[in-house]
Amino acid sequence: MRAHIVGGGFGGLAAAAYLILNAEVPGQDITIYEADRQMGGGFLLDGNAESGYILPTGALFDQHFPCAYRLLEKIVSATNPPKSVKDELFEFNDHNNDNWSHIIVDRNGNRVHDPRFGLSLRDGLDFLRLLLTPECMLDKRRIDEFFSQKFFSTEFWLLWSTIMWSFPEHSAMEFRRYIKRTLPLFPHLSDLSGVLRTPRNQHQSLIEPLRDWLCASGVNCRPNSFVRDIGFMPSPDRTTVNRLECESNGEVTLVPVGPEDRVLVTTGSQAADLLVGSMNEAPQLGLGRRGQSSELWKRLANGSTDFGNPGLFFDDETLKHHSRAVTFTITTKGNQFIGPMSELAGGSKPGNGGMVTLKESGFLNDKDSGWLLSFAILNVPEVWGQPDDTYLVWGWGLYPENRGKFVRKGMAECTGEEILEELLQHLSFDKRLQELSSQLRSDKRDAVTKSLVCIPCELPYVNNVWMPRSRVDRPRTVPKGATNLGLLGQYVEVPQEVTFTIEYSARTAWEAVHRLLKRGPAPPPVYQGQFDLNAVFNALKVFVCR
Ligand SMILES: Cc1cc2nc3c(=O)[nH]c(=O)nc-3n(C[C@H](O)[C@H](O)[C@H](O)COP(=O)(O)OP(=O)(O)OC[C@H]3O[C@@H](n4cnc5c(N)ncnc54)[C@H](O)[C@@H]3O)c2cc1C
Repeated sequence: MRAHIVGGGFGGLAAAAYLILNAEVPGQDITIYEADRQMGGGFLLDGNAESGYILPTGALFDQHFPCAYRLLEKIVSATNPPKSVKDELFEFNDHNNDNWSHIIVDRNGNRVHDPRFGLSLRDGLDFLRLLLTPECMLDKRRIDEFFSQKFFSTEFWLLWSTIMWSFPEHSAMEFRRYIKRTLPLFPHLSDLSGVLRTPRNQHQSLIEPLRDWLCASGVNCRPNSFVRDIGFMPSPDRTTVNRLECESNGEVTLVPVGPEDRVLVTTGSQAADLLVGSMNEAPQLGLGRRGQSSELWKRLANGSTDFGNPGLFFDDETLKHHSRAVTFTITTKGNQFIGPMSELAGGSKPGNGGMVTLKESGFLNDKDSGWLLSFAILNVPEVWGQPDDTYLVWGWGLYPENRGKFVRKGMAECTGEEILEELLQHLSFDKRLQELSSQLRSDKRDAVTKSLVCIPCELPYVNNVWMPRSRVDRPRTVPKGATNLGLLGQYVEVPQEVTFTIEYSARTAWEAVHRLLKRGPAPPPVYQGQFDLNAVFNALKVFVCR
């Protein structure tokens, strides 16, 4: 038996590891085809300390990622051997959580915090109403059908939506799952206790050790290999893959697949059609061909209802539903910028601190309310080999179509320098940052940009996982009638679990391997906060007595 895995993101790499660990498939019988030039999918790392690092994605994890952690406990850390990746992650969080928080700062630099996050009993009852509505009644329904307009202007919603990237127009079905999965987080949206970060960027913390472990086990990793089509044996009711069509450096190869072989396909990527900019250019440089990561899913779904509805998640229409976000990585030398930024984020020294969301007036439905900027101070060093006097700040804007408050353009049209200008002007209540902002707009500009580089990334489909969907829009890990084909990633249906997480991709991988090969243990159950009395009690306190 040979195994072919399409997609070398966390999900594809996890699938290869589960094949080895759970199903005892020899590594040399596994091939991973990745369309991009490097493995890692959304967890990309590029750039350098001089031209500016590029980190398009952030990473927050919770304690309840059993599929991901049971895998990561088997993988040796790249930088901290013989510790496992999991042990390294937990130890890092045990020792570095003191300054880790998420605060809201208003335009005058004041910290906005209400003891109950602005929630009322009425909001609590609305949560209950949504929880008591079975999932089968939530097809296509939106979050704002269940909550009052007032709820969306609470501190709770601002903190929640800037962490989870959800909007009132998004899926009530997904939000209901999130409530159950993340109930323990309700009282901790501000102090972020229980939320874990990786010790370094996700590429070096997760992807590299996993890739190296797979390569050492004999797995054949093939970057620059786009699987553009899959062929099936003729059958009225069975789906058996008999060939892959793989395009690599302009050449197409046909890979024969036997009925005893297994094919695992990643259907789409949240980082699809990612565009990268620079200090002087808005994001416009694509890393792959447009539409590449969902092309195969669209082919599979063409003419078959068992493969879901990729058009809902990857189409021009999707872009009208808050699917787009712009992220940016700031690389800075010295203390002039990082000092005040770290103080604002609650850090005890430069390069230390948590997350900050800049409060706009009229957050909800105010089309001219700015980009809704947030940023996080990244750990030092965030990138292995990062010079000592260099610091990183990662930021994001959830309304990139809106005009900025100061730079009167959509965020996706802005250069890195314009994003920096908008950020600094928002923070001009701090005299040191005001000074920096003035310098950036004066003849001292060149001196400033030598020590301050901002690289923007546009992610057109990152938030499509929140699209209001019905139960059949996502295919199952093993579609009906499939004999040797499994599906992976964020667009495959796994009951109860929430997307936008490595756990989701890991779980689809584990489940697909288990169901297709009928070997090894079934995936552990999904954590459900409503059955955790401690979590329920603490969450209730938020609504009634804090
Ligand atoms: C901005 C952002 C923030 C995030 N924050 C978090 C977070 O805080 N916590 C968290 O747990 N998760 C987070 N995620 C989600 C994260 O992307 C996933 O957890 C993880 O990367 C998903 O892995 P994946 O393999 O399923 O998909 P991806 O990482 O998207 O990888 C899919 C890969 O498949 C490849 N591919 C697709 N089709 C083909 C084909 N036909 N041929 C060859 N290759 C193909 C693509 O090129 C891509 O590399 C975030 C994502 C983004 C974009």
